[in-house]
Amino acid sequence: MSPTAPNDRTDAPVKPSNFLRQIIEHDLSAGTYAQRRWAGSPGDAAHHAAGQPDPARIRTRFPPEPNGYLHVGHAKSICLNFGLARDYGGVCHMRFDDTNPEKEDTEYVNSILDAVQWLGFNWDANGTRHLYQASDYFDFMYRAAEHLITTGHAYVDEQSAEEMRLNRGDFGKPGVDSPFRARTPAENLARFRAMRAGELADGAAVLRAKIDMASPNINLRDPALYRIKHATHHHTGDAWCIYPMYTFAHPIEDALEQITHSICTLEFEDQRPFYDWLMVRLIDGGLLASPPPKQYEFARLNLTYVVTSKRKLAQLVTQGHVNGWDDPRMPTIVGLRRRGYTPQSLQLFAERIGVTKSDSWIDHSTLEGCLREDLEAHARRGMAVLNPVKLVLTNWDELMGPGHLEPCSLPALPHPVEGVDSPMRHFTVGREVWIEREDFEEVPPKGYKRLFPGNKVRLKGGYVIECTGCTKDTNGTVTEVLATVVPDTKSGTPGSDAVKVKAAITWVGVADGVPAEVRLYERLFLDAQPDAGGKDFLESLNPHSLKVVTAIVEPSLAQAQPDQKFQFERHGYFVADRQDHTATHPVFNFAVGLKDGWGK
Ligand code: ATP
Ligand code: MG
Repeated sequence: MSPTAPNDRTDAPVKPSNFLRQIIEHDLSAGTYAQRRWAGSPGDAAHHAAGQPDPARIRTRFPPEPNGYLHVGHAKSICLNFGLARDYGGVCHMRFDDTNPEKEDTEYVNSILDAVQWLGFNWDANGTRHLYQASDYFDFMYRAAEHLITTGHAYVDEQSAEEMRLNRGDFGKPGVDSPFRARTPAENLARFRAMRAGELADGAAVLRAKIDMASPNINLRDPALYRIKHATHHHTGDAWCIYPMYTFAHPIEDALEQITHSICTLEFEDQRPFYDWLMVRLIDGGLLASPPPKQYEFARLNLTYVVTSKRKLAQLVTQGHVNGWDDPRMPTIVGLRRRGYTPQSLQLFAERIGVTKSDSWIDHSTLEGCLREDLEAHARRGMAVLNPVKLVLTNWDELMGPGHLEPCSLPALPHPVEGVDSPMRHFTVGREVWIEREDFEEVPPKGYKRLFPGNKVRLKGGYVIECTGCTKDTNGTVTEVLATVVPDTKSGTPGSDAVKVKAAITWVGVADGVPAEVRLYERLFLDAQPDAGGKDFLESLNPHSLKVVTAIVEPSLAQAQPDQKFQFERHGYFVADRQDHTATHPVFNFAVGLKDGWGK
């Protein structure tokens, strides 16, 4: 925030500026919206005129269509709209843009509300629940349409869809006026009322704005405002058989809600002139309060190695390429959450990628980096062996006593806080432990520092051991690695570091290790831009995007709560699966690696 910003909130964190922040700061210092009133609920000009000065300094909104699960691109928009309202003493409205009767479902409504709250935002402010649905505004929209008709700004067109398409022209060719364009307001009103009364079939007529069929902006060549659709709406039922078009409905929704900054993605840029055209006419007619909201566009999020169209995501689910909308490989918010993403990591991501006005691709590693950063600081540590082979300490019983289990402990968190006892994790070492198969080589390659006959390593948090050999089955596969324990080398005891080793390996005791299902994920697509340029994104599906292994984890990991995140030392970050993890059947999902391995 610039030092000249009128925002006097001292608790607002300092954020990098961007063009939207500059616009808002300008509007606040110029007092663009200072005279606005707010009647406590959305409404027309008269409604708000009877209200109080608006306690919100700005109003933004997040307006999803409830036709699918939200994805990482929506997370960007949520963080942006709710974040700007929070930072500038404003309010962000949660609005369902449910003007299209056919595609919507209440199942999605709940999942969307859940996702927004999980991301850390809510729509309660100044004692009001700012949760709205566009279908509540159908009466007003109808009134606005009749107003445009009676003032000569709209007409009912009864050309066929094909004629309308041909007469619209194209970029190089102006459109041709419809033969119905010259109807009188009285004729238009009668036909529009007939549309509303259900006297016309679907597609028989549309209401169009009367602007300019020769406009270089095709969106201004008499855009459609209302169409006929004999369909049942999930809120309004069969009350309507005509429905407003998005381009007409959206500006009205914003205005009724006294939105100041209506932020959308770049593909709506060409519709801004119509947005403004409509506002001017409805304010002139006394229907809407002034000043009107203004539309601003930003570049949508394009993330490599995923697809973010709801339609394509639905295809992955319905065709069984993934196991549901919340599959941890999905870029949906429910999928990311199940993968181990935290609200903080997604907020950090939104901030880091910023907002710009030009389209670009964000590398998936940027998203992963944000999660890694969050988990590095907060996730408990633990040891897990993902590809286990047994290691036998052949002198253990003789040295420590038959069946002896020696207690060991390590800090659970990486960064101890001064003056606070760091939490510890406890486990035992005995005669047999599990180690990673790759930590033993009978004939070591050059530079190999782990177990091979004659070499010493430390069992992390335990003893130094010396490898003596291995046993194998008839196929030559190693069945047990053999070693001896070096006396007086237990980690944390005096003189334990007298014996120098070049490597410490992770391990889990056979006596207290717990088997766990571990789901190892790779990227879902092999192509960085799976659907760019009209490519069939299904062709680049990665056949190895999920591999399930049985790992052995230390006892503290087996006690995980669903959704709890851990660093499996040296392997990466994992999350206890929110659906399937139980105390008797631990299940962990791979969340993100310790280092950026994406480019390799
Ligand atoms: P999709 O194309 O995936 O179906 P949509 O744009 O149709 O998405 P809406 O429900 O209409 O989805 O979107 C709600 C809000 O989220 C809109 O304001 C839209 O601009 C924003 N949004 C959607 N996708 C992205 C994205 N990839 N990046 C940033 N914002 C997005
Ligand atoms: Mg949409």
